[in-house]
Amino acid sequence: MADVDSFRTEIRAWLAANCPPTCQGKSNVLPDMVWGGRRQTWPHPDAKLWFDRLVEKGFTVPTWPKAYGGAGISPAENKVLQEEMARIGTRSMLFNFGIGMLAPALMEFASEDQKRLHLNRTARGEIRWCQGYSEPGAGSDLASLRTSAVRDGDDYVINGQKIWTSDANVSDWIFCLVRTDPEAPKHLGISFLLFDMESPGVSTSPIELISGSSPFCQTFFDNVRVPVTQRVHTENRGWDVAKALLNHERTMLADGGRGSAAGAARKSLLQVARQAMGASEGRLPDAAMREELVQWEMDRLCYEATLKRTMDAAKAGKGMGPEGSMFKLYLSEMNQRGADLRQRIAGHEALVWTGDDCPADERQITREWLYGKASTILGGTSEIQLNIISKRVLGLPGD
Ligand SMILES: Cc1cc2nc3c(=O)[nH]c(=O)nc-3n(C[C@H](O)[C@H](O)[C@H](O)COP(=O)(O)OP(=O)(O)OC[C@H]3O[C@@H](n4cnc5c(N)ncnc54)[C@H](O)[C@@H]3O)c2cc1C
Repeated sequence: MADVDSFRTEIRAWLAANCPPTCQGKSNVLPDMVWGGRRQTWPHPDAKLWFDRLVEKGFTVPTWPKAYGGAGISPAENKVLQEEMARIGTRSMLFNFGIGMLAPALMEFASEDQKRLHLNRTARGEIRWCQGYSEPGAGSDLASLRTSAVRDGDDYVINGQKIWTSDANVSDWIFCLVRTDPEAPKHLGISFLLFDMESPGVSTSPIELISGSSPFCQTFFDNVRVPVTQRVHTENRGWDVAKALLNHERTMLADGGRGSAAGAARKSLLQVARQAMGASEGRLPDAAMREELVQWEMDRLCYEATLKRTMDAAKAGKGMGPEGSMFKLYLSEMNQRGADLRQRIAGHEALVWTGDDCPADERQITREWLYGKASTILGGTSEIQLNIISKRVLGLPGD
C-alpha cells in the first residue's frame, strides 16, 4: 500500500509537470481517440505535445514491458495512473487494433525481433493496424479461408480477397490469415502474416452502410510479396495465433468504449426520456417506459460490476480466455436493446440520420441504433459466441 501511495505522489508530480493545462478538464483540446499511423492529425499542437510525453514515458501502454514501449508498471499502479489522469480530466488517447488485439498475441507467439519492432512502433502510435481475417465464404467458418500465400524464395506471394476489413483504407499495416498449405486439414494449413498496406498489389474498396459511414472495406491482394520474416509463429500453425487474437478481440469488445469522451458526452437514457416526455425532474410519467429504463440501467450496472471483477482477476495482458465470449455476447445484445429503447423514447426525433437540419444528438440516436445491428455480428456473431460458451466454457458435447 505504501508503494502505491508513493507511486501516486510520483504520478501527481509528473502530471503537474508534463500535462499541458489545455489537455485537462472538460473543455480540453484532446481528440476522443488517437488511432495513430501515417494519417494521424492533431486538433491542437498541445494534444500532440501531450501525446509525445505519454509515449516517452511509456504511458500509452503502461503495463507493457519497457523493452516494448511500455512503462512496465503493475496493474495496481496502472489503476492509480488512470485514476490520477481522470482526476485532472485528461487521458492517454491511443487506441487501435494493434494494442487491444494484435499485441497480446505477438507477446505470446512472435519472435523477439518481431516483438521489439512491432510492439514499439505500435506503442508509439506509428502504426494503425487492420485485421485481415474474414473473406467472402469464410466468416463464422473462418478456417475455410482461401487467400493463398505461395512461397517464392524469401517471400510469400499473396493472392485473394478479404472482406469487412475495418478501416483498411486508412490503416498502415494488416495482420492477415493466409492459406499456406491447401492440402492440409483446414485448420492446419493457415499462416499468420504482417504486412504494409502500401505494398504493391494491395487495394481496398470501402463498403458504404445505411448509416452513411464506411467503416469497412473489401481488401484485394494481387501478387503481393511479403518477406517470410514477417510471418508470426510456425508456418501452417497460424490458427493458434488467430484463435488467441480472437480471444483478445472479445476481451477488447467486452470492455468497449468505457471512458471515451464521446461515450461520456452522449445523453443518458434518462436524459433522453426527460426531454422527450417534458419531465425535467421527478418520476417519469410513462410507467411502462420507466420500468424498461430502470431494468436496462440495472443490467448495465451489473454488467460493468461483473466485467470489472473479471478484468481485475484476469492476469495482466492474458485476456479472459473463452469467457470473453459471455461478455461480448451480453454487451452487444444489451447495447442493441439500449439503442432500441433510446430510439423508442426519442420517438419522431430519432427518425433521421443524415442532413444538417436537425440537432446532432438526434442524428446520433439513429446512427447508434443502425450501427448497433453490427455489434452482434462483428468479432463473431451471437450464435457463434453461444457455440463457444457451450463448448469451451460449459464443456457441453458437440453436435
Ligand atoms: C462492423 C463490422 C466490422 C467488422 N470488422 C472486421 C475486420 O476488421 N476484419 C475482419 O476480418 N472481419 C471483420 N468483420 C466480419 C465479421 O467478423 C463477420 O461478419 C462475422 O464473423 C460473421 O461472418 P459472416 O458475415 O460471413 O456471416 P456468416 O458466417 O455467413 O453467418 C451468417 C449467419 O449464420 C449464422 N451461423 C453461421 N455459422 C453458424 C453456426 N456454426 N452455428 C450457428 N449459427 C451460425 C451466423 O450467426 C449468422 O447469423 C466485421 C463485421 C462487422 C459487422
